[in-house]
Amino acid sequence: MAPPAGVIRRLDQTVVNRIAAGEVIQRAANAIKEMLENCLDAKSTSIQVTVKEGGMKLIQIQDNGCGIRKEDMDIVCERFTTSKLKSFEDLSSISTYGFRGEALASISHVAHVTITTKTADGKCAYRASYADGKLKAPPKPCAGNQGTQISVEDLFYNVSTRRKALKSASEEYARIVEVVSRYAIHNSGISFSVKKQGETMADVRTLSNATTIDNIRTVFGNAVSRELLEVGCEDAKLAFKMKGYITNANYSMKKCIFLLFINARLVESTALKKAIETVYAAYLPKNTHPFLYLSLEIAPQNVDVNVHPTKHEVHFLHEESIVERVQQHIESKLLGSNSSRIYFTQTLLPGASICASEVVKPAPSTSAALKSGDKVYAHQMVRTDAREQKLDAFLQPLPKHQSCTVSETHELVEEQIEKANPECSAKETISDLEMLDASDLVTSVEESEMQTDNNEESKASTSSDGVPPRKKRPRTESDVEMDETEIDQTMTAASAPRRRVINLTSILSLQKDIEDRGHKSLQTMMRNHSFVGCVNPQWTLAQYQTKLYLLNTTKLSEELFYQILINDFGNFGIMRLSESAPIYELAMLAFASPESGWTEEDGPKDGLAEYIVQFLQKKSEMLKDYFSLEIDEGGNVTGIPLLLDNYIPPLEGLPMFILRLATEVNWDDEKECFESFSKECAMFYSIRKNYILEDSAASEDKDLDVDAPSWRWTTEHILYKAFKMHLLPRKDFAEDGSVLQLANLPDLYKVFERC
Ligand code: ADP
Ligand code: MG
Repeated sequence: MAPPAGVIRRLDQTVVNRIAAGEVIQRAANAIKEMLENCLDAKSTSIQVTVKEGGMKLIQIQDNGCGIRKEDMDIVCERFTTSKLKSFEDLSSISTYGFRGEALASISHVAHVTITTKTADGKCAYRASYADGKLKAPPKPCAGNQGTQISVEDLFYNVSTRRKALKSASEEYARIVEVVSRYAIHNSGISFSVKKQGETMADVRTLSNATTIDNIRTVFGNAVSRELLEVGCEDAKLAFKMKGYITNANYSMKKCIFLLFINARLVESTALKKAIETVYAAYLPKNTHPFLYLSLEIAPQNVDVNVHPTKHEVHFLHEESIVERVQQHIESKLLGSNSSRIYFTQTLLPGASICASEVVKPAPSTSAALKSGDKVYAHQMVRTDAREQKLDAFLQPLPKHQSCTVSETHELVEEQIEKANPECSAKETISDLEMLDASDLVTSVEESEMQTDNNEESKASTSSDGVPPRKKRPRTESDVEMDETEIDQTMTAASAPRRRVINLTSILSLQKDIEDRGHKSLQTMMRNHSFVGCVNPQWTLAQYQTKLYLLNTTKLSEELFYQILINDFGNFGIMRLSESAPIYELAMLAFASPESGWTEEDGPKDGLAEYIVQFLQKKSEMLKDYFSLEIDEGGNVTGIPLLLDNYIPPLEGLPMFILRLATEVNWDDEKECFESFSKECAMFYSIRKNYILEDSAASEDKDLDVDAPSWRWTTEHILYKAFKMHLLPRKDFAEDGSVLQLANLPDLYKVFERC
């Protein structure tokens, strides 16, 4: 028997509205996009977004725009009420974002909305709450600044299916950060911030005086922002203009990041994306992609502005021709940039917070530093341009076979130093590790942004380089924010390069220790020194004002790496080893070296080595997460942290490092663990006297060859540059012979006068 026919009933109007609203607003990020556009339409210059539980509990957007007139407050949340469109014809020339008064209405059908707003000429602010598009009670006067604050609470409280369809709060939050940061990049001149409720630090904050590039740096990091090419083209016939920034052929990442704005709306265009990716395919390594930010202006009558809030994909008139023009332009830009590759040496900023635009200040210029310190008069100035007359300039260029003379010169100086300073000349033993050739070993240097692979990609990379995918685990430390492990594909692409904010008290206190034991005037000296020349990998001559100093590069670099490890904790990139290094072998090698101090009493070496493998494997998750030290399930080291761009630690130190991790690190106490680990790691990274010496005349003209830089080049261009920018020398360096003053010009004058 057939079932009885269902009775057709007319749905209640509020249910209809709710269903319709759920279509318009599918998740918190959609709602925020609509509200951001309203703020921009209202000519705001400062927009602050605060979110609780991924926007599900609360979204609050505060702007300083024109506000809403009290008499309009009754109807702002009704459907089809707008201050921006009067007739259908207006649609074709619309320059504001909103045009159909649907957003607020929809939001108010699926959440509790409260608006507090004040116009420029209103005497006070008004506050009103809305439900199902209607005002709940007449607006109440209250105090408030000019602008509008809209609070959206309990999103989808009445649409359980929608609520259930949403992923975790962290994923929703990531989408929100993505939307806000993209609008921030597109709207330089307007400050944006987005944070979780209760936090003092914003996860993204841009400043009103920041440029587009500053904002890209803030959101996506230095690695992207310093590789950008400006693009721009237009075509009157096709009635479009395009401008933006794209990464050059030196830069690539695993997923394409494409920020596309058409007529100031964040949209997507598969056709355009494909066309541009084809161009890059010729320049970038296989399966890697560029970063692109493009802003297109197309005659309004040629674009369908009536895109549904949830439909991001757009089409426009003359699409094919416009896409082709953009493609050609990008091709020509990339070609141009390829012939003049520029190498940069620095990405990591110890102490940098996520608000890069606030943190990345230009290094203080000499003149600025002098203003605050002791004044130097012209007659005291010896050399003002560090590029002039370095020590090397005095050494005659020698034919290759005579290069020993150069080393002899160095040996002489070395000898003298050792005489003068016997305790500093302790020779570090190196193990005879033929397998470790620095330049061969490191194949892929991944910047921090690439660490945040989405799951699918990390699986893909597993098969190619044998690195097991990172296991998911419940994160217990509430002190580390922005967990990216759960973020899916679409999200990672956009929000990947964000820094994690570390609030662990142990780390904060170690950071403070660094601050406390810093020597301010040594720091000023470091910042403003002129590089004179290397004596050997351990010792370098530098000049500051009228004084000549002998600096212990080993000590200084060890401290630099320690400071990077602590200040940048949890935010390192990874250097992948081309061949993974078995911990067992490394430990055996270390035991073979007298430095290990192994004696018969310690028990058989192989048993100890086996123990070290197991021990470090247990710590592997933490080591990878916080320090980017990768250990695979087979007990091999597969990657080490990228602490400083273009710097590869002396890898012959790896066995000793591994051994000392097991013997010297205190794993029981959090702070001591981070401290002792960082110390060991810094020791491993520091440049040492026996730094692979592929030096001498052969490498003298290698200055531009970053693939295999000599230790001299590394010392001068990587380490001393980093010291300038980031090192806060320790107080004891002034006493322990790490920084020695050799000569002072005025004193020399006195000597010469007597002659
Ligand atoms: P639309 O943007 O399409 O007009 P909305 O539902 O998004 O529709 O907004 C309705 C109206 O509410 C807008 O036309 C505008 O007058 C007012 N409004 C919304 N948000 C703001 C804001 N942040 N500042 C000033 N006015 C606003
Ligand atoms: Mg709107």
